[in-house]
Amino acid sequence: MDCLFCGIIEKRVPSTPVYEDERLYAFRDTNPQAPVHILVIPKKHVPTTNHLGEEDAELIGKLVLKARDLASEEGIAEKGYRLVMNCNEWAGQTVFHVHLHLLSGRAMGWPPG
Ligand code: AMP
Ligand code: ZN
Repeated sequence: MDCLFCGIIEKRVPSTPVYEDERLYAFRDTNPQAPVHILVIPKKHVPTTNHLGEEDAELIGKLVLKARDLASEEGIAEKGYRLVMNCNEWAGQTVFHVHLHLLSGRAMGWPPG
């Protein structure tokens, strides 16, 4: 299996880490779309949100709570932030290992493009 984010988790591919524990990894996006752009990923390889099972419910909950904690550490919790998970073509997913974008540092428009 050739997955970029599995390569990052296994340190075969370099990244700028923000957080790591036994189940999660967080790192800076190399093409940031906002002053703060962090990706939070499960170490378990799941290609898209379509592939998540009931057994992943706690893992995804932890993913969201970790993004919330990182927002606080980055000093953006009060001003606000956006959490995004893109799924498949119409959403523009380019890396097929589930990841949560944490975006902030500027005001963002709605609806997204
Ligand atoms: P998505 O379009 O939702 O699949 O998001 C994939 C994200 O991964 C994009 O924001 C990319 O900029 C980011 N990305 C791709 N390669 C790397 C890398 N080697 N290190 C960090 N972020 C990356
Ligand atoms: Zn993977």
